[in-house]
Amino acid sequence: MVAKPRWIIHVDLDAFFASVEELLHPKLKGKPIIVGGDPKGRGVVASASYAARAYGVHSAMPMAQALRLCPEAVVISPHHEEYARRSQAVMGILREITPQVEQISIDEAFLDVTGCERLWGPVRQMGEMIQRRIFEEQGLPSSLGIATSKLVAKIACAEGKPRGLVFVPAGEEQAFLAPLPIEKLWGVGKVLGAKLRARGVRTIGDLATWELEQLVQEFGEVGRMLYLGARGIDKSPVRSSRERRSISQEATFAHDTADRELVRRMMLQMSEELAARLRKRHLVAQTVRIKLRYPDFSTMTRQVTLSQPTDQAMVIYEYAWELLHQYWPPGRRLRLIGVGLSGLFEGGYQLGLFDHQDQRWIRLSQALDEIRQRFGRRAITRASLLERKKRSGSLKR
Ligand SMILES: [Mg+2]
Repeated sequence: MVAKPRWIIHVDLDAFFASVEELLHPKLKGKPIIVGGDPKGRGVVASASYAARAYGVHSAMPMAQALRLCPEAVVISPHHEEYARRSQAVMGILREITPQVEQISIDEAFLDVTGCERLWGPVRQMGEMIQRRIFEEQGLPSSLGIATSKLVAKIACAEGKPRGLVFVPAGEEQAFLAPLPIEKLWGVGKVLGAKLRARGVRTIGDLATWELEQLVQEFGEVGRMLYLGARGIDKSPVRSSRERRSISQEATFAHDTADRELVRRMMLQMSEELAARLRKRHLVAQTVRIKLRYPDFSTMTRQVTLSQPTDQAMVIYEYAWELLHQYWPPGRRLRLIGVGLSGLFEGGYQLGLFDHQDQRWIRLSQALDEIRQRFGRRAITRASLLERKKRSGSLKR
């Protein structure tokens, strides 16, 4: 018997900060609006209205570059209190639909509406009602994706933007994903995307033709995620905010550094320690986050949601490194780096579909944890950590 599908809705407000500014200043409606830091300083775009995006402006772009692309844009410095207030109001609407709401950022949430049909009607209708209520009650445009998993719902939502509602029926996940460019898959950034393209993988459908063994051989642990992702398989649950926790580590370098090898080893060590902490508490993590601080103390955080939660250091490390690659220009010195994990939940050593094949990995990790417990944290480290030079600084929790 086939299990009944879950129904997950991903809600994402469109150009949230810019949309709030339009509400606050109705005269600006439809104009290119950029919310962000001081254009004369080193600020970046926090949010751009769709009129500004038409010029190629996007968030995280340096303000100076954004203004070269769109000189007539209205620049507004962010009103964070106002955004927080509106965000809470929207989350309130979502929690009236179901308590199973997982807020993943100020303007994004997953809802698990499995079984809510009795109360609110078919899922698609439910989505339309949510979108209408957010607009009528808060004046904010939003996009929704509806599917049987968080992975597919989030991608569907992005496909419909702005003001979209994309519904992927049960059983059509793989067909829906197939034509999309490979970078749309969670965890596939520029570096991994380029590696895949170099092997002729341009779409998620191309990826789905690869065998599991082949992917693992080429991409290590990330290969497993790719295999599942290409099939739209994602069993991760929607966790209401109460259950969300996080752990992190960061390290300040003794001297600001642009040494990639040093940073890489530091990141590997932090991933090892975080994974060991997860396993000790029988937790798995859904989201990997990095933090970078530059010598001028400006700080950036970026995160990626995994299609399968993990407690494995190599998975954490590979995603953290991929993120870092994307946001750390060569030659720019760093003052501090951090790796964090969130979306933690009880999972112990369960890896779902791959239980059997992961046994060796899991036994190895368990053995390492035991030795660390008996002989101290420093007893075992991966070979590449041993080369770490003294100047690399200290770890702090
Ligand atoms: Mg948004």
